[in-house]
Amino acid sequence: MLKIGITGGIGSGKTTVCRIFEVLGIPVFYADDAAKEVMTQDPELMQRIREVFGEDSYKGAMLDRAHIASQAFSDPDKLRLLNEAVHPAVFRSFDRWIAQQQAPYVLKEAALMFESGSYLKNDINVLVYADAETRMRRALARDQATPEQVQARMSRQMPEEEKRAMADLVILNDDDSLLIPQVMALHQQWTRNA
Ligand code: ATP
Repeated sequence: MLKIGITGGIGSGKTTVCRIFEVLGIPVFYADDAAKEVMTQDPELMQRIREVFGEDSYKGAMLDRAHIASQAFSDPDKLRLLNEAVHPAVFRSFDRWIAQQQAPYVLKEAALMFESGSYLKNDINVLVYADAETRMRRALARDQATPEQVQARMSRQMPEEEKRAMADLVILNDDDSLLIPQVMALHQQWTRNA
């Protein structure tokens, strides 16, 4: 089954794009949600978290996120170990999920697809692109955040121009572009090729 990665910067509209594909019946795996889920569901990852962050990491089946966050923020090595353990757990979750899907193709949405290297496992990688000003405006309208906070989140991501060079396809989602026709054209193409 064709695996298509969808990424884009904060406020680019990648989730909006995925919702349109979902309306067309295409299954979407949200990798950022899965990364949170596996921390309380993947036994191998949970064992690794206990090794790195201590037995206090879980209260029963519940993850003590504050305990993990305080250590991960103050110790870059622990943050790296956490990321190194979470990524394979997300892949395991994706592999289990995809085995249950019946569709001409599936999408995997991830904010840091190029940064994490997960794009290498997809057949096609799509960047949802909007200019920085548009993305800032959308993020401010949606989130309870200051421009400085949005800017700080943006600067932790790879610059959009670099992602553009790595992507196989770009969906333009600025104020002058029509989103739905672009999605429909790709849907037709990928359904035909399946
Ligand atoms: P993030 O990574 O920050 O979660 P995202 O890339 O998933 O963002 P969305 O959540 O899809 O982006 O979109 C950000 C906001 O912009 C949402 O409120 C969404 O409704 C709005 N938006 C997205 N695309 C458009 C568009 N073409 N026209 C108007 N509003 C849009």
